[in-house]
Amino acid sequence: MLEVSPVRAFSDNYIWLIRTPAGQCGAIAVDPGDARPVDAALEQHGLKLHAILVTHHHPDHVGGVAELAAEHGAQVYGPARESMPCEARRLVDGDTVHLADLGLEFMVMDVPGHTLGHIAYHGHEALFCGDTLFSGGCGRLFEGSPSQMLGSLDRMAALPAATRVYCAHEYTLGNLRFAATVEPGNAAVLEALEATRALRDGNGISIPSTIGRELRINPFLRCREPSVRSAAEAYAGRSLNEPVEIFAAVRTWKDGFR
Ligand SMILES: [Zn+2]
Repeated sequence: MLEVSPVRAFSDNYIWLIRTPAGQCGAIAVDPGDARPVDAALEQHGLKLHAILVTHHHPDHVGGVAELAAEHGAQVYGPARESMPCEARRLVDGDTVHLADLGLEFMVMDVPGHTLGHIAYHGHEALFCGDTLFSGGCGRLFEGSPSQMLGSLDRMAALPAATRVYCAHEYTLGNLRFAATVEPGNAAVLEALEATRALRDGNGISIPSTIGRELRINPFLRCREPSVRSAAEAYAGRSLNEPVEIFAAVRTWKDGFR
């Protein structure tokens, strides 16, 4: 199993540090928006940074990339269709990040929606999905369409249930408050909400989730459930027939939810 530790950055970002198998001291950073906390974590654990994986171009995901790459001589990987702050190996759907000396390999998925060129990395029963899928929610549609985002989420939802989901923000509690509004009769959501509230009261980290858990609690992965459909229809004030219409209504609802 992959050893992954969170590095907290800004107010609610997680930069994920992937440790290489036991006996080695290499590490990979995912979406390092800030170099300083990554450097501190590397030093604390006696690790050397080999590579940097980037999911999309937003500053809170790439802000520390150039500095870390220069400082550690780490290879940077990022989306082919978005601007990167320094030289990077540009990736598209189906590409493989093969880190032979670390014994690690990740498959690249195109997951447009939050941004148009957003990619995710999947391997070793883990998914690094940036701002596409969150626990209990999904990213805002800054660049893509509801249809693109739903397609991206559907692909992630089809991964094995045990796949651990490493998203880039601690948004779980707010997302579950919304999920409980959409599906007040979903016991899994209510249970997750209560557990997350207790966890966050102690400043605990609610990530990783798993695909199996998200299928039970995440309204954006549950657009085909009658309960989510009827809640979306009540919100929209009209009947919604296609999953993408239901998804779009739930996304708009969440955008205005406080
Ligand atoms: Zn973003």
